[in-house]
Amino acid sequence: MASGRLPTWGSVLAVVAHPDDESFGLGAVLSTFVSSGARVSVLCFTHGEASTVHGVEGPLAGIRAGELTGAAGELGLSDVRLLSYPDGGLAGVDADGLAAAVRVMADDVAADGFVAFDPSGVTGHPDHTAATAVAMRVAEERGVSVLGWTIPESVAARLRTDLGVPFRGHEPEEIDLVVEVDRSGQRRAVECHPSQAVPGSALWARLDLLGDREYLRWLGPGPA
Ligand SMILES: [Zn+2]
Repeated sequence: MASGRLPTWGSVLAVVAHPDDESFGLGAVLSTFVSSGARVSVLCFTHGEASTVHGVEGPLAGIRAGELTGAAGELGLSDVRLLSYPDGGLAGVDADGLAAAVRVMADDVAADGFVAFDPSGVTGHPDHTAATAVAMRVAEERGVSVLGWTIPESVAARLRTDLGVPFRGHEPEEIDLVVEVDRSGQRRAVECHPSQAVPGSALWARLDLLGDREYLRWLGPGPA
């Protein structure tokens, strides 16, 4: 399996669908970028209001916006923008509008590269796939690279079997970077999302199975 280090980008823009994707999924990768001196920003398309998980009582849109702000502090993010596209409906939204939002933020933070979920969506959520498609489109326009967060297929298979969650992974030969990470910042950020980080969820099993490694693929061309 490949091994490696994250690229030496000065400014990283993560493009995600839901508040918690930046922590539950990308948290260790983003905090590792921050530790290396990069400025890391997040564009999140929805407020996550359609989640079926309600670890905290009350309207999720407002709750999850506040959770994202807390997690951003734990991860050391420079800039976070939360948009109001429909949770669960990103695939049906005008992609030109989504792309325009990515362009604006990429310009504002002078992004050297993007980070996104793998095009598979990783957890099986179609919003993840839609968000990544937009990141890849804008990256291609600009000639910048997208690092896609994935998990090993062996881990995905365990999660499907043990928990019945439709995770999708990649075989070792399809993975470009395996990065050693310190999960302490990610775990603090996860704790900022009590509405979603409920006991017994697949999140905890996945973090345990991944240990101190994260797995990434270049979506489109990697850095020259
Ligand atoms: Zn999500």
